[in-house]
Amino acid sequence: MKFGFSYFGVRRLAHVRVDLAQMRDEGATQVLHTWSEEDLSYYRDTMGEIIHASHQLGLRVYVNSWAVGRVFGGEANSELVAKNPGSCQILSTGESTPAICPNHPAFQDYMDNWIDAVCQAGADTVFWDEPHFFFRKLGDSAWSCRCNICRALFKDQFGEDLPVVSTPETTRFRQQRLLGLLDHWSTRVASHHKRNNVCLLPDTFDAGLPDWESVASLPHLDELSSDPYWLDTDGEAKVRSDYTLYAKRLVELCQRHNLEPQMWMKLYRIKKGTEHFAPLAARLSKEAGIQNLMAWSWRASEWMSWLRSDDPEAAHQAMVSEFQSLARSL
Ligand SMILES: [Zn+2]
Repeated sequence: MKFGFSYFGVRRLAHVRVDLAQMRDEGATQVLHTWSEEDLSYYRDTMGEIIHASHQLGLRVYVNSWAVGRVFGGEANSELVAKNPGSCQILSTGESTPAICPNHPAFQDYMDNWIDAVCQAGADTVFWDEPHFFFRKLGDSAWSCRCNICRALFKDQFGEDLPVVSTPETTRFRQQRLLGLLDHWSTRVASHHKRNNVCLLPDTFDAGLPDWESVASLPHLDELSSDPYWLDTDGEAKVRSDYTLYAKRLVELCQRHNLEPQMWMKLYRIKKGTEHFAPLAARLSKEAGIQNLMAWSWRASEWMSWLRSDDPEAAHQAMVSEFQSLARSL
């Protein structure tokens, strides 16, 4: 049984060591460290020291591409669009977005450097965190990207202009482009003798990767994961149905493609009185056959006001108790 937490927001090694030792003492076997654009610019050696300290404590290390280019999930700013004028994703409405187009050469160059830095710093597994084309909100019909590069690529492939309204061809185009990038990135990671985990957003998000089978087929993939987090308005029934659905899907895909499934529990913005949701999600995931469980994030995100839970101590202890109980029940 493997379990752990994401960890971020602290870059002073002395404090990181104390936190990680506590995490390990609570029974965690692994940790995910976020690596944003800011980390690559200003904390590269620090990140290496943090990863090394994690290993010294016996924790396996995931590193994620945290909000890089805003092509991945995460609460970090991106300046790639500002540094590369004209590189942003364009919505089908014609509006510019703050996310860089994944098909832009500047992003692809940046990601190659990001991969080399993260692998050289000693990460065990690179976590491809919710790769997606820009979307505004659930249920919005606007989609991206209709930038000049995407329109030229689409015309090359399909012999016609990229439509304004989403069609089966635009869906296939977006899927193929993201899949091609994941193939390139995971191959580069594997050339560093490191592992790859792709974390896919639930179907309700218009990420651009609806076909999970094609992602599971990537030749250098080691783990497939998902994060079907509930909304503030959702009740226990929603947690139960979503985690059952996505856990079964992950297990089925991973069995056929010889991958390790991993499930993420929501451990941020936990409402008072719903501290049992994340433990329930973990239990359902394990019952479905998933032995690799993670929670976002440590101590129920108490240090970050944007993500903080109502009662971080109670939410964290409930998660730790469930993880420990699941580990004992093996
Ligand atoms: Zn584009």
